[in-house]
Amino acid sequence: MKNKITYLIGLLMVVLVLNACSNESSAASEANEDEKLKVVTSFTILEDLAREIGGEDVDIHNLVPTGTDPHEYEPLPKDMKKATDADILFYNGLNLEGGGNGWFFKMIDSVNQDPDDVYSLSDRIEPMYITDEETQAEEINPHAFISPKVGIKMAEDMRDAFIEKDPERKENYEKRADEYLKRLKDVERDYQQKIDDIPKEDRVLVTSERAFQYLASDYGLKEGYIWAIDTEDTGSPNQINSLVSFIEENDVPVLFIESNVDPRPMETVSDQTGVPFSEKPIYSDEIGKPGEEVDTYIKYLNYNINLIHDELSAE
Ligand SMILES: [Zn+2]
Repeated sequence: MKNKITYLIGLLMVVLVLNACSNESSAASEANEDEKLKVVTSFTILEDLAREIGGEDVDIHNLVPTGTDPHEYEPLPKDMKKATDADILFYNGLNLEGGGNGWFFKMIDSVNQDPDDVYSLSDRIEPMYITDEETQAEEINPHAFISPKVGIKMAEDMRDAFIEKDPERKENYEKRADEYLKRLKDVERDYQQKIDDIPKEDRVLVTSERAFQYLASDYGLKEGYIWAIDTEDTGSPNQINSLVSFIEENDVPVLFIESNVDPRPMETVSDQTGVPFSEKPIYSDEIGKPGEEVDTYIKYLNYNINLIHDELSAE
């Protein structure tokens, strides 16, 4: 008898506790409905993708701002705070954010973020490799996003990540992503047409960093560069000499300088070869600040292809 009473009291308590829990969680989910998903992005291009696909359903904090190198970054106290509170975090991957245990992952560890909330946008990208000049080691080239073919995959993966974390607003994410992907696919078609329009022998892209490898491979451009990646020696006499020989062998018509690099090494190359610069800089690791000419990813893609086309097909 005593056992039975204890059992009944126990059962009653379980029911009361369960009831209290379910009341609490339904109250919490009601409050959450008006709340935006807290998003952290590692650099400006992902920030723009998140703005396009997340729209009014998200609140974004971006880590590496325009004018700062995403390969090497020191997160600020406010970055740490936002990373702690974030519902979802996006990074490029392919070693952009300082490699396998670089700044981004150190930050994720130190704020104890749940790895399930952290999404790489390059899982479906076939990596391409560059060779470290000193060690001769192969490393992954992070700059896949320069090709719009890659941008399309990144936008699709971001859409799916938002839906996974915030399934209640699935339709909103899908609708915005559909429209955005349509625009990206138009840009992608334009890339192929504009590159096909450049005389075959002039399809050579010379930049400071070897950032355009994916683009060059996707669309049939030959690449020349001074250094393989921004984190290395940038502009040694050896690097300059080897680009000078490349330019002479390939009869290169014009040299491009990225918006975020020191122009002096390329100035030396131009002095030595007599090959002029493009009229405007080319964009690689960043988009411009809001209000500037190239302040979205789509503008960045359009700007680059128009610049490449106009400079390389000019007589
Ligand atoms: Zn770079």
